[in-house]
Amino acid sequence: MQIEASSLFSLPDGLELTSLTVVGNVLTLHVTATAQSRPCPLCTQEATHVRSYYTRLVADVPCAGRRVQLILHVRKFRCDTVSCPRKIFAERLGPFVEAWARKTTRLRHAIEAIGLSTCGEGGARLADRLAIATSPTTILRRIMALPLPPGDPVTHLGIDDFAFRRGRSYGTVLVDLQRNKVIDLLPDRKAETAKAWMRAHAEIELVSRDRGGDYAAAASQGAPQAAQTADRFHLCKNLTEAVEKALARCRAELRKSQKAKKKPAEDTPPEEPLPALLTSDGRPYSAHQTERYDCYQQVMALREQGAKVKEIAKRVGLGARTVQRWLKDGAYVETNYHHRHRSSFDRYEAYVRRRWDEGVHNIQQLWREIKALGYPHSDRALRAHLEAVRGKKPAELEEAGVLDHFSAKKAVWLFVRPFDDLLKQEQEELLALCQASAQAETIYQLVQEFFRLVRARQGTQLDSWMSKVKTSAIPELQRFATGLERDKAAVVAGLTLIHSNGQVEGQVTRIKLIKRMMFGRAGFALLRQRVLHAL
Ligand SMILES: [Zn+2]
Repeated sequence: MQIEASSLFSLPDGLELTSLTVVGNVLTLHVTATAQSRPCPLCTQEATHVRSYYTRLVADVPCAGRRVQLILHVRKFRCDTVSCPRKIFAERLGPFVEAWARKTTRLRHAIEAIGLSTCGEGGARLADRLAIATSPTTILRRIMALPLPPGDPVTHLGIDDFAFRRGRSYGTVLVDLQRNKVIDLLPDRKAETAKAWMRAHAEIELVSRDRGGDYAAAASQGAPQAAQTADRFHLCKNLTEAVEKALARCRAELRKSQKAKKKPAEDTPPEEPLPALLTSDGRPYSAHQTERYDCYQQVMALREQGAKVKEIAKRVGLGARTVQRWLKDGAYVETNYHHRHRSSFDRYEAYVRRRWDEGVHNIQQLWREIKALGYPHSDRALRAHLEAVRGKKPAELEEAGVLDHFSAKKAVWLFVRPFDDLLKQEQEELLALCQASAQAETIYQLVQEFFRLVRARQGTQLDSWMSKVKTSAIPELQRFATGLERDKAAVVAGLTLIHSNGQVEGQVTRIKLIKRMMFGRAGFALLRQRVLHAL
């Protein structure tokens, strides 16, 4: 199999590989220019007279793990056009290698790609691994030298801010909502700057922005021809914040109801759990000890009823000798071994685990269920087993409901997601909260209705929702509704339109990632290059 060496290295027409040598990790290719004539760079006439020969050393993309350098054997031509002031010129090899360049164009592109996916330092290390010799400064210089991509006309513009240095300086991100692409970054979030940008884009038909504020002003002045929409992402975000505040206010009501719940009601006394058993040295009984004690109680009860030893042994599941010994002792004798051993709980353990994971943490409930399946011991024994299995006190787990550890920050996520998206345990928590507080219940209904409206893009239903809020006596939601009222045209448009700034938020997340890769030290200009040229 004969392979044309020049084509193997993808050399352009007019360049021929004449020899190659390998020294260490470097592959050196001798490449000779062979074109009969070259155009004069000034008068563009083809010149045929070779005046002299010289060599250029140029780095190329690596080959099979080796660095590649080209020794280009090139020529100087004499221009024969009488009127041309240029008498002698060096032949040009563009676009393969630009004039004066010390790297091939494809190597430059490779370095740019590495730079755009990494940072200066990391890029240089990666390049070294890939047998490309470069430095962090070269990588950064290459990225800064990239020409801005041509600005395509944008009709649907999404605008939002992003933290450039968190809490200290912010920039603005502009997204083409139809192409889902960042089209520019601005160095601040001032109305003036955004306005100037929009002025230069008369083709904008729609601006999707957060509610009110600087971007609304920028759009009114910079793109007066465009319709404005309050984007759904920010509507939902603002509502979520209002709900969190409202829930934080419900905290007192929730705690009061929890205390009331803990006090047993007089007409329906709850099932009295058996008192905890303690060993003589004050430690709680292990699961085995508890089971054994239960058996002892059963033995005594059966004896009381006049049952014979053999019968007792059979019914309680013990050996006749044990029964006999217990009866003879006359009093319960503690065992003190704590090792895990086979127990009648083993058969039910998988079931209890599954139910526990499904969110059933009520021990009485679990006990009734496994009792129905044949578990012979008391709820106290089950409790002891759960302690052994889970390494925690189930009593604590059982009572540590959402009400005790109520956090508005966490609870808000139960309120804003669709009920069907919640885990079973989350659904139970949500129901508990709504049962405990009438306000929470009202908040829940209003929030869910708003999100249904957003999902179904029913901007027209907004009025009826707002009037419900006004009569709701939830001040946080009322304030939210008042804000909507002020920006109502844009809100209704935002609720009805197909686009959402959700994608702008996605882009902001990408910018964050790019920023992180740059160790947060990058200047705005570099960040802009990185984002606009992102691979
Ligand atoms: Zn010429």
